[in-house]
Amino acid sequence: MRLKSKSFAVMFLLLSLNAFAAKPIVIEGGFEVTVFDEVPGREMGVELFDGPMTKEQRLAFMPGGKAPAAVNVFVVKAGGKTYLIDAGFGNAVKDKRVDPSKIDVVLITHAHGDHIGGLLKEDGAVNFAKPPVFISKPESAYWLDPKTQNSDLAKNVAKAYGERYKKFAFGDTLAPGIVAVDAAGHTPGHTAFLIGTGKQKLLIAADFLHAAALQFPNPEESASFDVDKKKSAEARKKLMQMCVDNGWLIGGMHIPGGVGTVKGNGKGGFEFKPWQ
Ligand SMILES: [Zn+2]
Repeated sequence: MRLKSKSFAVMFLLLSLNAFAAKPIVIEGGFEVTVFDEVPGREMGVELFDGPMTKEQRLAFMPGGKAPAAVNVFVVKAGGKTYLIDAGFGNAVKDKRVDPSKIDVVLITHAHGDHIGGLLKEDGAVNFAKPPVFISKPESAYWLDPKTQNSDLAKNVAKAYGERYKKFAFGDTLAPGIVAVDAAGHTPGHTAFLIGTGKQKLLIAADFLHAAALQFPNPEESASFDVDKKKSAEARKKLMQMCVDNGWLIGGMHIPGGVGTVKGNGKGGFEFKPWQ
């Protein structure tokens, strides 16, 4: 009986967490932003980081050598349209939290598998039958280059989407209140999307970091899979500072919960507070 009530309690907790995660965040200008975590409970290991800190220093921010993470996709509703920002691994489509027939435009931050995997089905067919898929010009150029390693997925996506595979430049306004921001470093065309038309905006900064607990306070720390580690650290600091200076919310694909506020911690790093 005891066990039973405990498992009910756990179930209730999971259900309420799920409901919490799916509650939209409203951004000035009529934007409704919902975060779907495709891999709840995901952790990042200390061995993935090889920035200037020592492993011992890193462990102080990653107890047990792990930091909580996530694989988020963002759905933004505005002006009668629905935008999907990143397709994740495709779990959100598989478990029907994201319905491809309801998506008008897909915006991609960069072409790693945990961001574009969901664009294709297992047999290589498209998951999204109608919408255009937008990616930055430098990101596309990098992955479609025959010399780029591990680029089969990106090349298959470009091929499968054909004329619906579209490119933008940094600074482009992709829709009213959705602007592509240069976040290059993690990958050569890594993009953040700035959402909103009022003073209060949300900067969806994608993979500007991977272990929030380590990299908000220590933005100089890069991950081994950042294509350009120095540039990635510079972008991380630049994007966070933009949010601090403008009072914008910050979002990330690997931040548990996806969205929060950021401020300086007075020690050259930053402090993150999850939204709500
Ligand atoms: Zn990622």
